[in-house]
Amino acid sequence: MTLFRATVLDTPDDPFRGGTLRASADCGLLVQDGAIVARDAYDTLRKAHPDEEVVALDDGILLPGFVDTHVHFPQVRVIGGLGMPLLDWLEQCALPEEAKFEDPSYAASVATEFVHGLLQAGTTTALVFGAHFAPAVDELFAAASGAGLRITSGLVVSDRMIREELLTSPQRAYDEGLALARRWHGVGRNRYAVTPRFSLSCSNELLASCADVLREVSGAAFTSHINENVREIATVAKLFDLSHYLETYDQHDLIGPRSVVAHNVHPTDHELKLLATRGAAVAHCPTSNAALGSGLFPLTRHVAYGVRVALGSDVGAGTGFSLLKEGLQAYFAQQLLGDQGYTLTPAHLLYLATTSGALALGMPEVGHLGVGQRFDAQWVRPAPGSSLDVTLRNARDHDDALAKVFALGTPADVASVWIDGVAASGG
Ligand SMILES: [Zn+2]
Repeated sequence: MTLFRATVLDTPDDPFRGGTLRASADCGLLVQDGAIVARDAYDTLRKAHPDEEVVALDDGILLPGFVDTHVHFPQVRVIGGLGMPLLDWLEQCALPEEAKFEDPSYAASVATEFVHGLLQAGTTTALVFGAHFAPAVDELFAAASGAGLRITSGLVVSDRMIREELLTSPQRAYDEGLALARRWHGVGRNRYAVTPRFSLSCSNELLASCADVLREVSGAAFTSHINENVREIATVAKLFDLSHYLETYDQHDLIGPRSVVAHNVHPTDHELKLLATRGAAVAHCPTSNAALGSGLFPLTRHVAYGVRVALGSDVGAGTGFSLLKEGLQAYFAQQLLGDQGYTLTPAHLLYLATTSGALALGMPEVGHLGVGQRFDAQWVRPAPGSSLDVTLRNARDHDDALAKVFALGTPADVASVWIDGVAASGG
């Protein structure tokens, strides 16, 4: 067993339903076989376990590993393509890069960069948009397995309206999706996600084939995009002759408790109600929404309807892997909405970046650092003399300290990352 000694901040209880930040100074976490078996004052645990190895994390703060609920594997190298709305950005920036993933060796090098990017940012679990090419998705799962990350991902499918190299057919999507799921779903920490790119690029026949894969792979997740950009939404409405984007998925039974739809910046009330009824979650990606000018996320309406929300980096439209930056940008967006905004506390931000994401992915065993949980954690320890270091040392209380971490923290401040109690490389 290993005894970790640190200041621990986490959010086991939903702050949107009255929960508050759980903060324990000089806390002991006893970890056995990757699980937290005891949590108490360090001195108390040390007395009870005088011979166990101690990992002393004296400075800084220990947080749960982040859960990124929306991030694109093949877009690492196009982060920072600013100045375009969604459909232009896809055509000029993202899709030409994604076409390169036909070459498995190209995919393999990016997979290494991708996994490294997640770990460096303190992310230990992610729902990942894979590639349009099955061998590239194999490379992603292989790299994630090597690093020990908890990855849910799958083959991205489209059969219209985007560049030809990326198109598939309903039958091929079914065959390749099922084969990938058989190779990776439930193997190690990997899980499979059925992933149509978005309704704009998917015919009804293709979405029906996605539903077939989802039915055949027990415990698989579903993910896609929704209501991101007004031009996209208008085109989808015309293509499907439906006035609610969500129905393009829901009519194929793709929306349920294991579904995570990204963005939802412009939902109708009907859609919010339906998302809540289905128990589906929304991945909120605030830097992407700002960078592409997609809009300000209506969090208050999501909360009012009881729709679950978690954070996603949406790399590469999002501007980096750090969920600290996403949390801060989520806060900014709500402030800019004025009376319609939801005032987010530091505890809300941490919950959105950890526990909420874990629940959205159906992985309640991660997301916070209570007894019985897996020890997926990150040690935020800023360089001495940095602004984060200075403000942390002068923080009023634990909530204030956490606000400092979101305001000033970057991947450079993540000193170590553990998954299942084992230190990950790249952290
Ligand atoms: Zn996306």
